[in-house]
Amino acid sequence: MSVKDFIEKDYYAALGVPKNADADAIKKAYRKLAVKFHPDKNKGDTDSEERFKEISEAYNVLGDDARRAEYDEVRSVSASGGYRMPRGGGAPSGGAGFDFNDLFGGAGGGSADFGSTFSDLFGGGGGGRRRGPRRGDDFETRTQIGFRDAVEGVTVALRITTDGRCTVCAGTGARPGTRISTCTTCQGLGQVSRNAGGFAFAEPCPTCHGRGQVVEVPCTNCHGRGTAAQTRTINARIPAGVRDGQRIRLKGKGGPGEAGGPAGDLFVTVNVTAGKIFGRQGKHLTLTLPLRFDEAALGADVRVPTLQGDSVTLRIPAGTTNGRTFRVKGRGVTTTKGDKGDLLVTVEVAVPQRLDGAMKDAVEAYRSASLDIDPRAELFAHEGTP
Ligand SMILES: [Zn+2]
Ligand SMILES: [Zn+2]
Repeated sequence: MSVKDFIEKDYYAALGVPKNADADAIKKAYRKLAVKFHPDKNKGDTDSEERFKEISEAYNVLGDDARRAEYDEVRSVSASGGYRMPRGGGAPSGGAGFDFNDLFGGAGGGSADFGSTFSDLFGGGGGGRRRGPRRGDDFETRTQIGFRDAVEGVTVALRITTDGRCTVCAGTGARPGTRISTCTTCQGLGQVSRNAGGFAFAEPCPTCHGRGQVVEVPCTNCHGRGTAAQTRTINARIPAGVRDGQRIRLKGKGGPGEAGGPAGDLFVTVNVTAGKIFGRQGKHLTLTLPLRFDEAALGADVRVPTLQGDSVTLRIPAGTTNGRTFRVKGRGVTTTKGDKGDLLVTVEVAVPQRLDGAMKDAVEAYRSASLDIDPRAELFAHEGTP
């Protein structure tokens, strides 16, 4: 699809919906027509085939909020005579994956996505020109949260600094009350054609840097760029179960949409502080549990803390070896998907650093009683070892 297609084709008529139809109505109209004219149902009927192509193309644009906004904008500008097709080179053709940023090279400063490129080309300064709905920008930030907050979920205040539209000049770049005139180099198109090796390339107008307009007295706040850094605080709910390094998407928490367009999204990369006694293995919590030798040898019921604040009793069977892991069901992390993990308890036999008289006597009595047991016998039972 190209700008030329946008100007010449009436996609609303193709789907038989009014220009103010909402997304649902457009989807319904498309489905109905797509079923009716589907090639499988109309084998060999070229009229149906043409019609099917037409409605597919129309829905491809109108079914996507951002593309629909661009289409509306191009058509409203073209209807008011503000857009003239460049001579010779033709309109920039935008096939699938075509990058308008390459063409206009971030014209006008700020984030030059497809939408704002068109805004730069056609928007602003015209004085009351109607702008189509435009989706707000996506924001990207990171935050650090505590171990328990990551498990339970937490609301954090995020400070976001973005290059937003300058509030003093409303993005025009002109000092309020001063004149903005149409660029004479590009006649307001924002781009000029350059011929190279038989091909015509469109490139940003060097005079107005793609804006299509020339400002006489630049805005003092943004120095004529039309954009200025804006800091805002967004309260965001980090869901329970987030992993260290996880990037979460908070829908609608990005930049505000324009002219009824939806808000953008906020992407937050979350770093989680290591826990003091608990660790994380995905949805499972981990805990190292020190045991006395007698508890490991004879067995014992041991109290184990949980992250939830209470404690559970773990039965240690007689003869538990060092490093053995026990599972306490359901005491882990509830993930962002609602999965419940376990608490994995790994025992570590503690060797006392100091023995008082009675303890020493007892250990020595144990030694005398167990002289026949050689825990290293296996090491010497193999071939080749002395
Ligand atoms: Zn300004
Ligand atoms: Zn220009």
